[in-house]
Amino acid sequence: MSIRVRFAPSPTGFFHIGSARTALFNWLYARHHGGKFILRIEDTDRERNTDDALRVLLEGMRWLGLDWDEGPEAGGEYGPYFQSERNAIYDKHLQILRDKGLAYDHEGAVFFKVSGEPQVINDLVRGRVERKEEKDFVIYRSNGTPVFHFVNVVDDMTMGITDVIRGEDHLSNTSKHCELFKAFGVEPPRFGHIPLILKQQGPGKMSKRDAGALIEEYDHRHFIPAAVRNYLALLGWSPKDNREILSAEELVSLFDLGGVTKNNAKFDERKLSFINAQYLHALPADEYLQLARSYLQKANWSDEATRSPENQYLDQVLLLCQEKLHAVDSIPAFIDYFFVFDYQYAPKAVKKIMKKGDPVQRVREFVEAASQIETWNEAELEKCITTLAETHEVGTGEYIHPCRLGVSGTNAGPGFYGLLVVLGKDRTLERLQRFVENPPSVVG
Ligand code: GLU
Repeated sequence: MSIRVRFAPSPTGFFHIGSARTALFNWLYARHHGGKFILRIEDTDRERNTDDALRVLLEGMRWLGLDWDEGPEAGGEYGPYFQSERNAIYDKHLQILRDKGLAYDHEGAVFFKVSGEPQVINDLVRGRVERKEEKDFVIYRSNGTPVFHFVNVVDDMTMGITDVIRGEDHLSNTSKHCELFKAFGVEPPRFGHIPLILKQQGPGKMSKRDAGALIEEYDHRHFIPAAVRNYLALLGWSPKDNREILSAEELVSLFDLGGVTKNNAKFDERKLSFINAQYLHALPADEYLQLARSYLQKANWSDEATRSPENQYLDQVLLLCQEKLHAVDSIPAFIDYFFVFDYQYAPKAVKKIMKKGDPVQRVREFVEAASQIETWNEAELEKCITTLAETHEVGTGEYIHPCRLGVSGTNAGPGFYGLLVVLGKDRTLERLQRFVENPPSVVG
């Protein structure tokens, strides 16, 4: 029988990282097994569910690249996919239980009559779990609405769900669900309960108020969706070889529930940022430029420069900095000095560089030699610095460090020769001239 799994969120207005991870694990499981991934909206809580809440969810799913085979917008043969539209189905199933003598009225509510047998599941993550329901439980409230356990089981049953992969907080519901499946004369699906996501600091699970808890936040902060998806996959799961950077194809081929840990997973912002940076560095030039430019536009960064004939210069600057960036939103800080002449010298860098040797003299020598260079490229620049260092019997660093400070105001950044090439001869010499005439002084 082919695999059918579902992600069954209740739209709350947020797309919580725990939900997203559940969605991802279901999606990976379906894709790995060549099965179907179904999106079912558990919107029985009318008060809270709005179109906006649904939109946040669907947008989040799309942003992460989690396409669903059946569900809202996609349709399918097992619909409707909104619980709020399935009342006739629920009523019919209530009648089945009544006819079997397994549902009865009590004080206005409808109760389900449990068998009292121990319910054993071989959870795909937790292994054998046994639990007994001692007491009959409510399946329809006195206001006539069906409760979660009932609709959840009726839907899984009527939608032909083969595997229920969900958060561990539902493990304790599973015995109720098994009771219901069996009451309908149906074999329960396989279950896999995945560990909770704990906050980075302190005890307890991530709540929607914790930083990093909402998927929409990552979109706003210009994270790369594939990187977030990669990170989410590692929250509670790891491939056998413990690799951390995995493409969607690799995740799909390696994912299985056997690799899911029983221990709770801890949210780790640094690891997420690290993975995001790896993706940023690996982006093909055109994709990267598009991302960077759209970010700069949104951030209202020097619109003039992005539209001017200097366009190409901006691209060159962006490409030069790509391998050093940690995040898209740090681009302005990385590139500002390429576009302004009156950048400040960072006090820390000044302190480090101006105290050693004779930096002003070194820069003066470089300006003189470099102004003779005809073809302004990395090889020529390197040759120039090596020759100077040999002539004056000092290390090349004695030229490189103060020159970098002179052209950028900092002691960190992209590769030195690439930096000078992108700046071009005129800008480089102009900046170094300023440095020689008015060198920064060490404070403190
Ligand atoms: N609506 C439930 C939830 O969001 C679904 C539980 C399940 O996957 O069975 O937790």
